[in-house]
Amino acid sequence: MNANKSANTNAKPALHGWQRIFNSFFNELQASDYTYLLSSLQHPHLLAIKRTGIIVSRVRLVAILFAIMTPLWSVIDFFVFSAHIWVPMTLLRAITGFAFLALFLYYKPRKKPAHAYRALFFLLLIPSVFYPISQYLLIHADLSEHLAQLVLVGYTFLPFVLIASLAIFPITLKENLALSSLIMSAQLLGIILSNDNQLANIIGIIWLLALLGCIATMAGISQLALMAALVRQTIRDTITGCFTRSSGEELLSLQFAIAQRSKTALSLAFIDLDNFKAVNDQFGHEAGDIVLRHAATAIMNELRDSDLLARWGGEEFLLIMPNTSISQAKTAMERLRRLGLCKRPDGTVMTASVGISEVWRDAVSDTGQLVDLADQRMYLAKESGRNAIFCADDSAFDTKPNATQNAGAANIEK
Ligand code: GH3
Ligand code: MG
Ligand code: MG
Repeated sequence: MNANKSANTNAKPALHGWQRIFNSFFNELQASDYTYLLSSLQHPHLLAIKRTGIIVSRVRLVAILFAIMTPLWSVIDFFVFSAHIWVPMTLLRAITGFAFLALFLYYKPRKKPAHAYRALFFLLLIPSVFYPISQYLLIHADLSEHLAQLVLVGYTFLPFVLIASLAIFPITLKENLALSSLIMSAQLLGIILSNDNQLANIIGIIWLLALLGCIATMAGISQLALMAALVRQTIRDTITGCFTRSSGEELLSLQFAIAQRSKTALSLAFIDLDNFKAVNDQFGHEAGDIVLRHAATAIMNELRDSDLLARWGGEEFLLIMPNTSISQAKTAMERLRRLGLCKRPDGTVMTASVGISEVWRDAVSDTGQLVDLADQRMYLAKESGRNAIFCADDSAFDTKPNATQNAGAANIEK
């Protein structure tokens, strides 16, 4: 699906069936976004990146807290249990504390979702291993003292604490189910190892865990819904429906990295509407907004599915064209110019001045240079009298990375 065309600017899509039910609970989302709550497979790139960052930072927060608290608890154990329990338990706590510390130190925020999944998995795996072993060690605890009984009850709370901690992560329904199953399995193993065979106890524990799991799941997907809505607002410009500048910058960085790695072409077109201020001055700001929207739609309609359009400034757009050589980009822009962008309120044609740059042809080393070149050429197009397309001299042009000599000279393509 075309990422640009899928952006519905202001129109609210009609909801039907299950979407209406969902909408009554998560009305901050659009109909197409509900699948985001079920599974992460359809998450837009920027949502995936932001969510990854949040999950990893929360994992680190919990990991450092547990890294401190787990060994510290040995002080309480010392006063309650005899040496034959305290010594192995303290060893177990020390190892667990180190594992949490390693998790905190190793997992730094990065952009790959798999990275966040691994961090989350280990965060739950460590206590899930700790719990059954601790239950096994406690089989022979002397429960004649009231305090020992209290501490023992504290140990049985661990799976409940774990399942409740899922509430702080913006995770999908499927992820919640997978992680809750891991905790439930640890609980069952703990029951088996502690020789607690009373069915009523087991059902009671599982029931309570399931209840807490449902609450944590609701909290998790509520966070995710809010996040998806916020990311949508930062991703899309509300007037035109194209990407905002900040999301455009992220997408450009990504496409730049892909182009460099795979040695493929990547072209940019900097598009600035001509004499746009006059529309505002003569017909008002709202009429100006409508012209902006129509111009953006006209550009989007001419795009390939892989092209990305961002609103870079007031009446300036940046068109990112992956796998597109400079001559293909020129052809596309010429076609757009021939068709005309849109009409001004007085019926005359709205034109634009365009500057084009390309990664290999212009031998740039970062996205900043690529945008600057396209911007400079757009200004040359303005100086030439507007309604023009400028790019580097395309004589001896070749999209292959070796032929990246930058002619520097610009030519008018009318
Ligand atoms: P040039 O051909 O040299 O580019 O002239 P121009 O009039 O297009 O450019 P200029 O930079 O002089 O003016 C841009 C105008 O765009 C000024 C600003 O009020 C208007 N503008 C910026 N953002 C918006 C917006 O969101 N809505 C509307 N209606 N106007 C906007
Ligand atoms: Mg401008
Ligand atoms: Mg302008």
